[in-house]
Amino acid sequence: MELHHERGTVSLREVTKRFGGTLAVDAVDLEVEAGEFISLLGPSGCGKTTTLRMISGFEHPTEGRVFISGRDVSDTPAHRRTVNSVFQSYALFGHMTVADNVAFGLRVKRHDKKTIEAKVQEALDLVQLSGFRSRYPGQLSGGQRQRVALARAVVNEPEVLLLDEPLSALDLKLRQAMRFELTRLHGDLGMTFVFVTHDQTEAITMSDRIAVMDQGRIHQLGTPVEIYERPASRFVAEFIGEVNMLEAEVVGGDGARTEVLLPSGHRLTCAPVGADGLSPGAQVVIAVRPQRVLLAPEGEIDPSGHAVVTGELRELLFLGDSTRGTVRLADGSELVATRYNEAGTHPFGLLRPGDRVDAGWRHGTACLVE
Ligand code: ATP
Repeated sequence: MELHHERGTVSLREVTKRFGGTLAVDAVDLEVEAGEFISLLGPSGCGKTTTLRMISGFEHPTEGRVFISGRDVSDTPAHRRTVNSVFQSYALFGHMTVADNVAFGLRVKRHDKKTIEAKVQEALDLVQLSGFRSRYPGQLSGGQRQRVALARAVVNEPEVLLLDEPLSALDLKLRQAMRFELTRLHGDLGMTFVFVTHDQTEAITMSDRIAVMDQGRIHQLGTPVEIYERPASRFVAEFIGEVNMLEAEVVGGDGARTEVLLPSGHRLTCAPVGADGLSPGAQVVIAVRPQRVLLAPEGEIDPSGHAVVTGELRELLFLGDSTRGTVRLADGSELVATRYNEAGTHPFGLLRPGDRVDAGWRHGTACLVE
């Protein structure tokens, strides 16, 4: 049975892909909702592209099933799936005008001339290229070419649009502008987008949810805020944004709080924590973002509301927008704190390198990961 409300959903059930001895994708389960913008994010070689290609039908899973809009398409060839792909390389036809490139798929499907013209116009309007319809790809900038590739993909009205690093060939400024374009396009179309990227900023700024991948597996699936604030593992915490990682051992606690001991001798209470039910003896890391770390002269951070460690301020580095302070603890480990620079004030008050300082963070702003 096909249910209308499933139009645009994608499900991967225990999908595995092996290339000879390489396990590229390892028993991945993923449920993408209709109309969602989901990103597959991870380092090179983690299996993002292979996962996407199994949705498009360009690769066949070694094991597992793929569903699109509620239908099992595992044995359906790529050209019969209701998806379209956009790649890093635009793959436009150089001898055809922009309008002909966009019309190509519709002509193959033998739509009538009037319908083709109306749909091409609509697609070019969507990517703001109506004025470029008679140009050839060679007469366009990289960003414009990628917009033609997008128009060509959406003109077929696929249920799911698959995007494989579509911005990575563009320079930084253009990439930033195209992020907004893609988000706008997604909002206008209401179509499901599955987006592959190794760029965390792209994933964080555009996605409804992010699947963080490593070594063929999804480490965490969540909203950008969940992924950033509550990373489920050391890998996710380090991959998304800058983070301090302090090794620690669990020494006690109850359901709501966990007591940990640092190699520097500090005993801290972490609450609430990411990892529940940690028993004494467990080795963990405290993950705390640099902008959450406060610095003050030794003894001045209130220990009732904060986790506090003490050390020596080694360095203050002016970075333009912000200043970065590095504190060294007794065991040699370091902790970074960052603060925005306000006009006319020193971001860390009167602190200077060499001072003994407290570094602290409010309870609830750090998490424990295993
Ligand atoms: P990148 O960001 O570099 O594109 P990725 O996360 O998309 O990486 P995949 O391209 O999915 O990674 O590759 C996952 C693993 O599978 C890698 O180890 C890769 O070398 C291997 N692989 C991919 N395609 C093939 C193939 N056709 N034959 C053999 N091995 C392959």
